[in-house]
Amino acid sequence: MKILIVEDEVQLLAALKDIIAAKGDQVDVATNGIKGEELALTGTYDIIILDIMLPGKNGLEVLKELRKEKIKSAILLLTAKAEVEDKIKGLDLGADDYLTKPFSTGELLARLRALGRRGGIETGEELELNGLVLDKQTYQIRAGGEEVKLGAKEFRLLEILMENHKQILPKERLIEKVWGYESEAEYNVIEVYMSFLRRKLAAIGAEVSIKAIRGVGYILEEKDD
Ligand code: CA
Repeated sequence: MKILIVEDEVQLLAALKDIIAAKGDQVDVATNGIKGEELALTGTYDIIILDIMLPGKNGLEVLKELRKEKIKSAILLLTAKAEVEDKIKGLDLGADDYLTKPFSTGELLARLRALGRRGGIETGEELELNGLVLDKQTYQIRAGGEEVKLGAKEFRLLEILMENHKQILPKERLIEKVWGYESEAEYNVIEVYMSFLRRKLAAIGAEVSIKAIRGVGYILEEKDD
């Protein structure tokens, strides 16, 4: 997931960033409401952790603007104990949840899991295997900061392989699913597409490999290190 944290208390911000980055999520940060809003308006975050008391522009104003602009990211408000009215106001303005400071790491992670399941943004549909991410919206694959775009057939093949990894997928089944019919010609075509895919996976250093099982089909495996 991609997560934005908007928080002006630098120690808390650093701690939050560490906790979230440790679970493998991508984290961006802002220490004031203006910068936070600017980043949030890109609409690319699954979850935004938004402090209420912020310099520049407060969290509730930022929240109001984001919902006005139809940003669908899930928003978790951070509030101080005394800010009961702000909490209610925040939920009214379209926040998804709130956490009262101070909170435990476990509490934070539980909220993030719940919000992640809710599925904040529509474009966030991805498949992940051993660090390889397939973005169903953009047809891109990425691994370790590298990314490359797939053609429609390559995308569909990899999607099926990732959804059924560790299973041997018969060639016939792949052809039927990707080309929609069985044809003698496609038996060679699928090999060509598999080699395109292997090349792209290698280009981004993905830790998965497509193995051909002679006379049967293909299997996607995680590379051991
Ligand atoms: Ca604050």
